[in-house]
Amino acid sequence: MTWNKDETMKKLFLTAAALALWAGAARAEIKVVTASSDLKYICERVGGAEVKVESLSSGDQDLHMVEPRPSMVFKLKKADLLLRVGLDLDMWVDSLINAARNPRLFYGAAGYVDASAGMALLEKPEGKVDASMGDIHIYGNPHYWLDPANAKTMAKNILAGLKRAAPEKCAEFDANYAAFIKETDEKLAGWQQRMAPLKGLKVVTYHSSWPYFAARFGLDVAGHVEPKPGIPPSASHLDGLVKKMKAENVKVILTESYYPRKGPDFLAGKTGAAVVTAAVSAGGTKDVGTYFDVFERVITELEKAAEKK
Ligand SMILES: [Zn+2]
Repeated sequence: MTWNKDETMKKLFLTAAALALWAGAARAEIKVVTASSDLKYICERVGGAEVKVESLSSGDQDLHMVEPRPSMVFKLKKADLLLRVGLDLDMWVDSLINAARNPRLFYGAAGYVDASAGMALLEKPEGKVDASMGDIHIYGNPHYWLDPANAKTMAKNILAGLKRAAPEKCAEFDANYAAFIKETDEKLAGWQQRMAPLKGLKVVTYHSSWPYFAARFGLDVAGHVEPKPGIPPSASHLDGLVKKMKAENVKVILTESYYPRKGPDFLAGKTGAAVVTAAVSAGGTKDVGTYFDVFERVITELEKAAEKK
């Protein structure tokens, strides 16, 4: 075989090109860990190609009840950014922060993002908090992401965190953020239009997950299957609720996908109300892939339930 200069140069060139490609693929991505699948979705929208995001929970889990696991600690050890829902919804994240000992993610550090910062909260307790109020939702209702308008505040908090993690990418993040805000506003306008005919619709919800959704779209929450947040229903509570639903002509029971159907089905049997099972987060049911799908689906289901009346 004779030495061929051109051939050798070509091989060298190809090797260099492959190395450049490899280096590109391995470029520093911002490693993000989120408490919820909705935070993951919003972070991917704002972070674009610069982020690799993992959610610690799936959309069909009750975020109050996630159990910390060693595999989660491992994810936090390697992460640049941690996004949490905050308030007392994901208190399990605190034990993970303590166990992972990653100084980037300590409370107040550059990589710590509480998505609830600056959020206008509902059901904020006034005066003394005592045990009779139940032991969750003590700082106000933490299910704020169920008003799509609040996604803008979440995205803003995430944007600030991403900029701290990669200041050189600020322009890219700003552009992604602006596109996300625009899409949120457009979708919100459409959903408000669709919900306008349902204004004042009385619903009973399983958990108090829906006050932000109800306030945004004009639903009237007449009661909850749970007597207090986190407390399973007793027979006497359900009997009282049947009376209330009949007296107030409540036709819809809205239940989160991860709660047992027994209570809602009992109420439906006694009152004739329709049960709407809804995903409250991205991935909560098979047909809810994204955060925006959550609203698309629950609004479609509410429209169907209201039509049946
Ligand atoms: Zn809750």
